[in-house]
Order: sequence, then C-alpha cells, then structure tokens
Amino acid sequence: MPAPSVLVVEDEPAQREVLTYNLEAEGFRVAQADNGEEALLLVAEETPDLIVLDWMLPNVSGIEVCRRLKSKPETKGVPIIMLSARSEEVDLVRGLETGADDYMVKPYSVVELMARVRTQLRRTRPSSVGEALEFEDITLDPETHRVIRAGHNLKLGPTEFRLLTTFMEKPGRVWPRDQLLDRVWGRDIYVDTRTVDVHVGRLRKALCAFGGDDPIRTVRGAGYALG
Ligand code: CA
Repeated sequence: MPAPSVLVVEDEPAQREVLTYNLEAEGFRVAQADNGEEALLLVAEETPDLIVLDWMLPNVSGIEVCRRLKSKPETKGVPIIMLSARSEEVDLVRGLETGADDYMVKPYSVVELMARVRTQLRRTRPSSVGEALEFEDITLDPETHRVIRAGHNLKLGPTEFRLLTTFMEKPGRVWPRDQLLDRVWGRDIYVDTRTVDVHVGRLRKALCAFGGDDPIRTVRGAGYALG
C-alpha cells in the first residue's frame, strides 16, 4: 500500500519545509504547493489523502481552495486541516462552515498538528495509522499483516493484502479498476487493468480457503466492492 499522501499548501517556505520534514518523518508521502492555484492543479492530478491548507495564500486563497474541493463529490471526502493566523479567528469559523475538517491557529505546535493529521486519517484511512479493520468475520491487522477469517489465519500475497485493505477501509464502495490500480499499485507503475482482475481472483480464493461466502462483489461495467 503506498503510504498516505499529504498535500501541504503554504506560501511561507520555512513553514512549508518544517511541515514537509515532519510529515515525511511520520512516513507520509508529501506534495507541496505555495499557492492556491497550484494546490487545485495538484489535487486534480492525484487526490491526496489529506490536505494541510494555509488560509492566506497568493492567487486563490486557502478558504476558496477549501470551498471548491468540498463542493466536488470526488474531493469532498478529503480531510482538510486549515492553518490560520491568530488575528483571523473570525475567519476560522467561516473556515469550518466551508467544510474544513479541523483548523489550527499559528503559531501551532507541530506535534499537535501531527496528532490531528493522524486523527483525520484514522477516520478516512484507518489502516494507515495502524488500526485493525473488520468486516463481518474478517479481521485485518495492518501492523502484523495478519488476516483472520472465522478463526483461520489466511495466506495472502502482498498485493492481495493491499487490495483487501483498500476494500476493508470502505466496505460497500464500488472501486473502478483504475482507482484500484492507483491505490494498490501506485500511479507511477504501469500495470494493465486486467492485472486487477487476476489479483481480485487470487484474493477471493484466499478469502474462501477455509469456506465461507465470497464477500467480493463484481459490479458489471463498474468494478469491485466488498459486501
Ligand atoms: Ca500564508
């Protein structure tokens, strides 16, 4: 599973570097933008798992970036933590009205910010912060890489493990093949979409090795879903 990606949008170079350094130290992949316009372009290219967004930015302001992302179905689920100067507290309230998930007032504690990043990701990508995932009689532990179904320890290859993690983070969600490719293989690697079918087949076999129904649904013309 590629590490969770965080987009840092901050026009102050020193602050951008501190954030990037600390996020990378936590194991995240970090992309940077120094203005709102660039941030929107980067998000259109690859949807990050979380955005740390400064309020005052050149070109398009942080609040406008937030508003635009929260109004689109494909990006509205991405958690946004807004950063703002103390004098802009009134604006902070507006920030929450536009859908920001959390905010911090400058100067903020980096340790506190990292904790809030993890809190947001625990909600949207629980496995990325080490939480065990459960679906019906299946339990997946991202730290030990163990998958247990009805008391049986299942044997999964690394790709099948990442696939199952993706499915278990959002049961019921239909994943198109190209989105699975992005999430499981990573965007930089060229893999044919038929490869997805092969690995879903292997995953199904592994999940049913000790009996039980096939929990993965094929949605014709759309992709795959768990449950
Ligand atoms: Ca700024």
